[in-house]
Amino acid sequence: MKVLKFGGSSVAKPENIIKIKNIISKYNDPIILVVSALGGVTDLLLEAGSLASTQDQSYKEILSTLEERHLSTIKELIPVTAQSKVLSKVKSEFNVLETLLEGAFFIGEITPKLSDKIVSYGELLSSYIISEYLISEKLDAEFKDSRELIITHKLNGKNVVNFEKTNANCVDYFKSSNKKVTVCPGFIATSEEGVSTTLGRGGSDYTAAIYAAAIDADVLEIWTDVSGMYTANPKMVKQAKAIPHISYEEAMELSHFGAKVLYPPTIQPVLSKGISIVIKNTFSPDEAGTLITKSKNEKGKTVRGISHIGNIALLSLEGPGMVGIPGISKRFFEVLSQADISVVLITQASSEHSICVGISADDVEKAVNIVNEAFEYEIERGRIKQVIPEKDLAIVALVGDNMKSHQGLSGKMFSTLGKNNVNIRVIAQGASERNISCIIDEKDVKKALNALHEEFFEENIKQLNLFVMGVGNVGAKFLEQIKEQRKFLKENLKLNIRVIGMSNSRTMLFDEKGIDLNDWSAKLAAGENADKVKFLEMVNSLNYRNSIFVDNTASEEVSKTYSEYLSNSISVVTCNKIACSSAYENYSHLKSLARTYNAPFLFETNVGAGLPIIDTLKHLIASGDKILKIQAVLSGSLNFVFNNFNDKTTFHDVVKQAQEEGYTEPDPKIDLSGVDVMRKILILARESGNQLEISDITNNPFLPEESLNTANNDEFFASLVQNEAHFQSLFTSAKHADSKLKYVAQFDDGKASVGLQEIPKGHDFYNLEGSDNIVLFYTERYPNQPMIIKGAGAGAAVTASGIFADIIRIGNF
Ligand code: ADP
Ligand code: ASP
Ligand code: MG
Repeated sequence: MKVLKFGGSSVAKPENIIKIKNIISKYNDPIILVVSALGGVTDLLLEAGSLASTQDQSYKEILSTLEERHLSTIKELIPVTAQSKVLSKVKSEFNVLETLLEGAFFIGEITPKLSDKIVSYGELLSSYIISEYLISEKLDAEFKDSRELIITHKLNGKNVVNFEKTNANCVDYFKSSNKKVTVCPGFIATSEEGVSTTLGRGGSDYTAAIYAAAIDADVLEIWTDVSGMYTANPKMVKQAKAIPHISYEEAMELSHFGAKVLYPPTIQPVLSKGISIVIKNTFSPDEAGTLITKSKNEKGKTVRGISHIGNIALLSLEGPGMVGIPGISKRFFEVLSQADISVVLITQASSEHSICVGISADDVEKAVNIVNEAFEYEIERGRIKQVIPEKDLAIVALVGDNMKSHQGLSGKMFSTLGKNNVNIRVIAQGASERNISCIIDEKDVKKALNALHEEFFEENIKQLNLFVMGVGNVGAKFLEQIKEQRKFLKENLKLNIRVIGMSNSRTMLFDEKGIDLNDWSAKLAAGENADKVKFLEMVNSLNYRNSIFVDNTASEEVSKTYSEYLSNSISVVTCNKIACSSAYENYSHLKSLARTYNAPFLFETNVGAGLPIIDTLKHLIASGDKILKIQAVLSGSLNFVFNNFNDKTTFHDVVKQAQEEGYTEPDPKIDLSGVDVMRKILILARESGNQLEISDITNNPFLPEESLNTANNDEFFASLVQNEAHFQSLFTSAKHADSKLKYVAQFDDGKASVGLQEIPKGHDFYNLEGSDNIVLFYTERYPNQPMIIKGAGAGAAVTASGIFADIIRIGNF
């Protein structure tokens, strides 16, 4: 004989029930078919009961929706000729249910007994309807009420199964029954006094296990809406996979820590008989599912699954009066148990100064009151502190039989959580070493599960979640490059890059599954109004692991938001120079936030676009070298301008061309006044370990006073036309000296300066083409022949690839 249990979603709709018939029709052995209430019905019955008990008439609406749903299920499944008996039986059951709810309504109270009675109708009705449907489909089926077989009795105030009576009933009944399919309601039982009882939420799994053990079934099959027990709840972790084979103990541990797919008590009855459990998907019956048996898992697999329980509160009993006094913990646990509060996790400090327990947040008020009452004497005398609960917490647990023989798993677990800025409140490890669990903030659960899953199950594929601000020249190129490279990065660097959010100055767009980079621009245009604060709030509330904020703007406002990102452990990558060239205090604050919150702050493109200048500098310094002198041509824009400017062009036209081709900042004066180069040499000086401000840098401007004082781009360009003679004289002077004009930045002996210089033939700078940049690093290890980095130092494509390189650095971090 086989026992098959179909859960709430498997029986939720008539078309699902037809799927069940198709599944069981393929079985040759006799079957005990245990079914749950139609999906969602138990919740609605409980709600109706609770509304009635507060004398709220709206319970009637729930009742009529429920009746309608059951009647329409019958009408859809059973041929008209056979309907009337079933319809009238169900209607009469609803009449009884109505009377029960009316009772609660008039008395204004609902007892546990009445609640159990009301809620039992969910399974009673579903199993009856399904049995009648199977009979109408000519299956050799019958209905059997589980309340006639499963008997409960009170143990320490709780209803528990009386296995002696139950097993005897089952053996008797199924020995004499010769039906192919016996349909039984899950979840419900009868007390020794003959009153309806229930086996706890999710208890239909348990019903099936009780039957399986009682009759020594060949197998217990749990049919649900997922294809097995997964490495993590598939609704929280998209990458989770079904575990093919798992031991009873592992499955028990996972379900105890929240893997709802199996109700925790289910394993116990079948474990002692060695009956295998198979978890299968009603909606995908061909998938293998999960096999749960005695045998241990395959060698080498340590962590088998990650589970979590939300809605947890923490109670801590603390105080100097606890040291050395025996019996405190006994009293503590006794009061909790007497109040029927179950303790999910316990830790105790070695000094015995505190005991800390995790309980369901629903019980917290009751728990605080009874514990404070129980320890009133000690609290009044200051020996124990009042218990103060902490709420909005969750338990996350790693589970695996082989975890005990492996070092470093907890280290890996906690460092993964730490890296993702998940604060760990409490840690516990099972004595069996089959689980390591910790309590974290509820808001971090999704991030924690995904980060842990990535660490322990995903062959090191790392997901990077990008939030991109600025999708103009550079930003658009950047998105294009990501689109082109995604596949390569996934296959070769094991990095999976998704753009979750993007914004320009007008609109913003978010897609939790990742924005499709083939048509982002139309979607963005139709997005909601751009708002930097809302953008930040959204990034924070999504709370993804490995989140990176990418700033492709030149906006000071945006640069002011970095500290908020970093202090939420969100990395920042930027080509915007404003933050790093602002007050030293701000620059160093951002760097220290990056260290504190484990969130890289990278800005390689602040100097020399995609050239690896800052990264090289960092490596030189990290390896113990010292920077003595830096000489550089750092303005791609100015280089472009002076390489194209001669006596056959005008200065105005060349600058205009540079602006149009994207070689200058939107405001070209920032480049031509030398401010941009000052910012760059300042950043290099700072990255070399010097505490410099922008005001410490000497600027020898080549622009006439009049151009420097203009108020906008139009005025600026007009002033260039007016001063053409001045620019021509700069050109002629250099030409006569057989030199070229280069805008040079220098850092030497702690001092930095920028200015236009006539560079003679033979100098490293002389042959610098187009918009190229060049940097000479003179260091202790490169004292005479400098280390030289040279190449295109401006342009959207190279800048975008520099940003990309920073993202990959974070991916490899
Ligand atoms: P049923 O109604 O069939 O009893 P449940 O809702 O009780 O189904 O259990 C199935 C659900 O359990 C899944 O839809 C999934 O959301 C949840 N779940 C939680 N953890 C896990 C896990 N580790 N593996 C599979 N499912 C899980
Ligand atoms: N219907 C009950 C519940 O929702 C039992 C079950 O489905 O397992 O908890
Ligand atoms: Mg269930």
